[in-house]
Amino acid sequence: MNRILIVEDEKHLADGLRFNLEAEGYTVGVVDTGEAALETITATPQAFDVMVLDVMLPGKSGFEVISELRMGGQYVPTLMLTARGHPDDVLRGFAAGADDYLTKPFDLSILIARIQGLLRRREWLQTAPPPSDSFTFAGKTVDFSRLQLRVGEEVVPLTLMEANVLRYLIQHQGQPVSRKKLLEDVWGLHEDTDTRAIDNFIVRLRRYIEDDPTRPRHMLTVRGVGYRFVAEPG
Ligand code: CA
Repeated sequence: MNRILIVEDEKHLADGLRFNLEAEGYTVGVVDTGEAALETITATPQAFDVMVLDVMLPGKSGFEVISELRMGGQYVPTLMLTARGHPDDVLRGFAAGADDYLTKPFDLSILIARIQGLLRRREWLQTAPPPSDSFTFAGKTVDFSRLQLRVGEEVVPLTLMEANVLRYLIQHQGQPVSRKKLLEDVWGLHEDTDTRAIDNFIVRLRRYIEDDPTRPRHMLTVRGVGYRFVAEPG
């Protein structure tokens, strides 16, 4: 049976979600602060299969929660609930390590479909045959099917978005890719979004793939445009 942790401070919404998800056959836990979510996941990392995380919480925000969990090596698949009309929130959520998002107010059937999507991916990752969809450069392998970066013996888990950004830049290797193109093609955002969130995202990817992230050799900045990926710097 799949277990879902709901992190939501609006009691009526949390209660409604619990009721409906339990009716769908899920086991549901509810906490109403980010602090409690961090405590719960850190204390029992295997206790939940999916987390539904609200952004607007009384203490730590959803962004802080997901970012702290990912930095602590906790990769529970997470769907963030963001406010409608804030595309920056979507990008920030992905940059912080979210796997998917839904804007409030949302349709319950869509939430359930998204949760099922995260669960299917998780199951598939756990049972999938040896990876075939990968790219190797400079002694590092990005394994897109398992959402991992392997550097020697070290395995760095990637979020789906991190893998997608890497894939996109690798597909266009050698060419400058604008922030606008990244936003549109990878995030599916067409609105006038603050592109600085992309820069934060790239900073994170550089920490994974660059030997010295302050002097990138693979993930290069193209001034006034965006980024360019180079597999084998000359
Ligand atoms: Ca809230």
